[in-house]
Amino acid sequence: MSTHYERVMEMYREVSDLYGALALMGWDQETYMPPKGAASRGRQLATLSGMAHERITSDEMRAALDSARSESLAADEEVNIREIARSSDRAVKVPVDLVKSIAETSSAAIGVWIKARQEDDFPAFAPWIDKLVTLQRQVAEAVGYEDEPYDALLDEYEPYATTKDTAAVFESIRGPLVDLVQRIASSGVRPRTDFLERNYPIDDQRRMGVTAAERMGFDFEAGRLDISPHPFCTHMGVQDVRLTTRYSETLPMQSFYGVIHEAGHGLYEQGHDPVHEGTPRGASVSLGIHESQSRLWENMVGRSRAFWRFFFPEFAAVFPDQAADVSEEEVYAAVNEVKPSLIRVEADEITYNLHILLRFEIERGLFMNEFRAGDLSAVWNEKMKAFLGIEPPGDRDGVLQDIHWSHGSFGYFPTYTLGNLYAAQFYRAAERDLPGLSDQIARGELLPLRDWLRDHIHRPGMTHRAGDLVRHVTGEPLTADCFLAYIDGKYRSLYRL
Ligand code: ZN
Repeated sequence: MSTHYERVMEMYREVSDLYGALALMGWDQETYMPPKGAASRGRQLATLSGMAHERITSDEMRAALDSARSESLAADEEVNIREIARSSDRAVKVPVDLVKSIAETSSAAIGVWIKARQEDDFPAFAPWIDKLVTLQRQVAEAVGYEDEPYDALLDEYEPYATTKDTAAVFESIRGPLVDLVQRIASSGVRPRTDFLERNYPIDDQRRMGVTAAERMGFDFEAGRLDISPHPFCTHMGVQDVRLTTRYSETLPMQSFYGVIHEAGHGLYEQGHDPVHEGTPRGASVSLGIHESQSRLWENMVGRSRAFWRFFFPEFAAVFPDQAADVSEEEVYAAVNEVKPSLIRVEADEITYNLHILLRFEIERGLFMNEFRAGDLSAVWNEKMKAFLGIEPPGDRDGVLQDIHWSHGSFGYFPTYTLGNLYAAQFYRAAERDLPGLSDQIARGELLPLRDWLRDHIHRPGMTHRAGDLVRHVTGEPLTADCFLAYIDGKYRSLYRL
């Protein structure tokens, strides 16, 4: 006789297979689908996600979850029940009509946003932000929250995190980062970057990115690298992980760090325990923890002095002409140039977080009724001035730059900075456990670090909630200290502060 637990898992595996199919269709939509395929693909995605929603909220699933809770379960089984129940509860609480209305409103809003951005016309888009905020507020009310509606939205992307704790840690980095950016600007030190503006053929860029990803231990027999306008990583299973990047002949480091970043995400997916495939026990914890894996590889490893010791000869071998008059030290300095810029996705690893803090404060303010969408252009520009000392000439390069709000995604942005903070904490723990880590990196031996991440972060899947995982691995709760110390140490010497 099968237990209630087994019945839950049997039903959940189907949900998980539907997610896999949705991921594959989504991947194809962004990479190979011909443009005219959009309408039928949209319908197919809606049908499959409706099926997944039905299955996870079905009476049978609810009853089996309830009964499974009173069975005596092994630790791994408890993780599965806890997390499946969590998804099911959330899905049950949000009325189907509200989900539909969000999908319809955001699909119209995306069109308005694209046009408003082209025409630099924020007033055309602002009412749509108000509409989506109103709908997401209804989601928050339906789901429930402790202190403020934003808690319920953040919880979708960073389960169990609270707005209050996130705000406190973000506030602790704002002052030091603003100050550091100013000190760097007045240092008078400017890295040489002219050689990065030369022509770098795309095939060679691809070769260089693949070389780095292979060194990191990304398994190309269980993954692929393709091209899409907005780079991402998705997976259909532990053994099928898809990365994308974009290429520009005059921006070789954009694709290079893009590939390292996505391969960092990909290693997390390839690192799950195959025994638990298709269950929460074999899945990633949160967007913030996911981002910690990409950022750790991209910045702490890929932008380190040690990394360029081993990788410079690779770079010079792939691009002998472009690198003919360039030194290892110059590449290292160039890829760590700090410069306040208007566009988040082009920002360096310091100012990036100020872009996120700005968005977090705006989102929170919207849901606290501190201001309405119509005020956002002014609020945005004021904060840009305060944080980075620059103001966009128009809203196209300001409040209209990101697609997230037109999707109705509020609560997503903070996970980027949470990822940077987690990454610094994990990296410090790895340095503690792996003596000589930076010497290994300088020799191109990246697998010991990959294996450490696998053991401590990838294999445990959702065993620990994000906050507990950080405490478990590092011995400390989430803190900005490691990140600030890392940034300070690195840029003090780069900019001779
Ligand atoms: Zn990422």
